[in-house]
Amino acid sequence: MIKAYTAASLQDAHILLGLLCAEGIAAHILNANAQGGLGEIPFMHAYPEIWLVHPRDLSRARRVVEAFERPPAGAEPMRCARCGEDNPAGFEICWSCQAPTVPGCR
Ligand SMILES: [Zn+2]
Repeated sequence: MIKAYTAASLQDAHILLGLLCAEGIAAHILNANAQGGLGEIPFMHAYPEIWLVHPRDLSRARRVVEAFERPPAGAEPMRCARCGEDNPAGFEICWSCQAPTVPGCR
């Protein structure tokens, strides 16, 4: 196992895990439960980490991470109209409050 990325949020970690999976890179999220659930006081603030099963995948994983951190133009995050959290383009439901992120729809 080798660490490939420290995500800013568990949401980011899950998105990146999906991207790595699509590339055929086996990876796991560590610290996935460290931030607590919605409405709970986090027991310990630790950022989720992406760890690769195979160190040989690291260079490919880095490219996936770079693409993830610099999304193509037009893939602007959508700001939730209810709670103000940013949601990645394509998310139809706010990850934070479950409100629809479709503009004009509350
Ligand atoms: Zn929201």
